[in-house]
Amino acid sequence: MDPILERYQALEDKVASYTPNLDTKRLYEAFTYADTEHHGQLRKSGEPYIIHPLAVADIVADLGLDVDSVIAALLHDCIEDTGATHEEIAKKFGTSVADLVEGVTKLTRVQYVSKEEEQMENLRKMLMAMAHDIRVILIKICDRLHNMRTMEYQSPKKQREKSLETMEIYAPLAHRLGMQKLKWELEDLSLRYLDPVGYKEIEDEMAKRSAAHEEFLASIQLRIQQRMEQEGIRCKVYGRVKHTYSIYRKMFTQNKTLDEIFDLYAFRVIVDDIPECYNVLGCIHDMFKPVLGRFKDYIGTPKPNMYQSLHTTVIGREGIPFEVQIRTWEMHQTAEYGIAAHWKYKQGMANKKLGSEGDFEWVRKLLESQQDTDAEEFVRTLKVDMFSDEVFVFTPNGDVKSLPAGATPIDFAYNIHSAIGNSMVGARVNGRMVPYDTQLKNGDIVEVLTSKSAKGPSRDWLKIAKSNEARNKIRQWFKRERREENIATGRALFESELKHAKIPLSAITAEDVLPNILRKVRFGTLDELYASIGYGGTTAVKSVARIKDELLRLGRLKAEKAAAAARTTAESVIVPGSTAQVDPLQLKGSNKHSDSGIIVEGLGNCLVKFAKCCTPVPGDPVVGFITRGYGVSVHRADCPNADPDRRKPEEASRWVRVAWVSSPLPNYKTSLELSSKDRDGLTLDVAMALSAAKVKVTALSARSQPDGHAIVRIEVEVKDKDELAGVINKLNNIQGVYHVARVSGK
Ligand code: MN
Repeated sequence: MDPILERYQALEDKVASYTPNLDTKRLYEAFTYADTEHHGQLRKSGEPYIIHPLAVADIVADLGLDVDSVIAALLHDCIEDTGATHEEIAKKFGTSVADLVEGVTKLTRVQYVSKEEEQMENLRKMLMAMAHDIRVILIKICDRLHNMRTMEYQSPKKQREKSLETMEIYAPLAHRLGMQKLKWELEDLSLRYLDPVGYKEIEDEMAKRSAAHEEFLASIQLRIQQRMEQEGIRCKVYGRVKHTYSIYRKMFTQNKTLDEIFDLYAFRVIVDDIPECYNVLGCIHDMFKPVLGRFKDYIGTPKPNMYQSLHTTVIGREGIPFEVQIRTWEMHQTAEYGIAAHWKYKQGMANKKLGSEGDFEWVRKLLESQQDTDAEEFVRTLKVDMFSDEVFVFTPNGDVKSLPAGATPIDFAYNIHSAIGNSMVGARVNGRMVPYDTQLKNGDIVEVLTSKSAKGPSRDWLKIAKSNEARNKIRQWFKRERREENIATGRALFESELKHAKIPLSAITAEDVLPNILRKVRFGTLDELYASIGYGGTTAVKSVARIKDELLRLGRLKAEKAAAAARTTAESVIVPGSTAQVDPLQLKGSNKHSDSGIIVEGLGNCLVKFAKCCTPVPGDPVVGFITRGYGVSVHRADCPNADPDRRKPEEASRWVRVAWVSSPLPNYKTSLELSSKDRDGLTLDVAMALSAAKVKVTALSARSQPDGHAIVRIEVEVKDKDELAGVINKLNNIQGVYHVARVSGK
């Protein structure tokens, strides 16, 4: 068979293996369409061009993306390099595919200039924002990966340029999306061209030692496997040498030789569930000597890209340190394929609502506003609206500026410098003159025309500008340059508003009233108030509303005084505004229903959260604090943050009585801190004690103190205070432990 057809067939088989009812005819048509369009074009390698889209589609299929993505990968260079158009592709393969292809094309057209890190961050964000659909980014990363794999055929200049771009843009994007495997390969390939000497040095050294490496990996792997079998833990163990770029970074940032590099090896133990992860950790620390301070619990505290694992570094009998990563299968998928893994799961989870509890926070963030989706609508949820509140544009020099969405050339000009804004006489976007109120789009190149004889900003600009920065700078200009004019304008606006409110000017200029009025609007004189209204620092409407309030208050005061004088001899005095005392709720032993296990005086079953500083559990005496915005926060009565002596007087009324209902919820999360002599096996003993106490552990982390002590932070779920007391008791019995305390205050 023709080798190209053979490649196509392999791709089709791969896609069919995870796509039920694959429409092979449509896939084949996409292939032949791309093949025809690219006909006669050659890659730098001399191969027919179609090899490239086929390879990109193959990587996309490796990620398990949907058929539309695979088809778009086959067609991804058609708009850019052949006569194909969006309409034509849409007619043949649907708008979804056409949009994806167009999205990839747009990203291809963005020009990069290497800049400082902040600029790079904006560029990465701009790409994400331009993509609209996360699949566009994924296809683009696959495209880049294949180009990097075949970079040897390019000129040295192009090799360096593309490698730099990959290192600065695409590898970080892959990382952000949690795609570790792709990220590693992109980094290694880029390094090869960015520092060929350093790269070769490491590769050669590693090749020389490969036999020794293999032997070491195999022996440790076997020992871990055997121990797990003894313990009856079902798991898979993998060992590997770390990837070249990570070794390179360690060598060059720490200025070390290959021999001095700590942990060249990494092992992975993959198990079925989270409790097993902690069991495995205990065993590993029992088998090998843990390196202090190297244990990290990314299960309890996942990385921002949702990476989860337990990490520890240990030293074996041979004296060689190595890292062990312990995770579940699901965590493993996420670590390898990131957002794509998540996407894979979603295909099978028809009923699960995105954004529901337990969902990956980062995907939720990525998919922001599209939360109400079901399976049929799933593809729509991939239309990400990341950074929807920002727009990224270029200066003529290629610097990237981030502006609020809807920003105009005025915002752009003031973002660069107020002097540029103040002397602006025109603007060009992508080389064309545009009106000032033009909304800038991602990727636009914006140029501001200035003139020394410019008259300065106009008041209309305040309405056009989108950013506070630009508006403030424009106001400052008016404030400075046009005081007389501002006073006149402001006075006119103010008097008209006053008339509207039916307040005669004389009512506020009266000698006994004016000082109160000025204090209320926070100006020293009326002219200052007028000037501020004139340049837009405040508005006439706001000021008059304030003044009206103040006039009413003064009027009431006068009336009350008069009334009080009139009844100095009267027997009963009614204090206006006093409220009847609310009977305190009978809190004790209440059987009231409560979703949280807590009832609040005067509020009953309301929104409650448990304070993170002291994590109360049933049985603890508790008090509540009415927060601004999120219900009642419940503290232990002995928490320093609830100490009556430290409460702010203005918040006195926010502290309320609360009580546990008689049958609260089955479990409550709380934190303990254990201090101990630092010794081997401490974490293991703690884990075993907790397991003996039969409580659910949600996080466990140990850190060594410089003075030979260790602090272990433990987060558990318990029923109540009694159960917790039992746990503390068990922990106290561990050898070397000085003290176990509940965490409170900070
Ligand atoms: Mn391409």
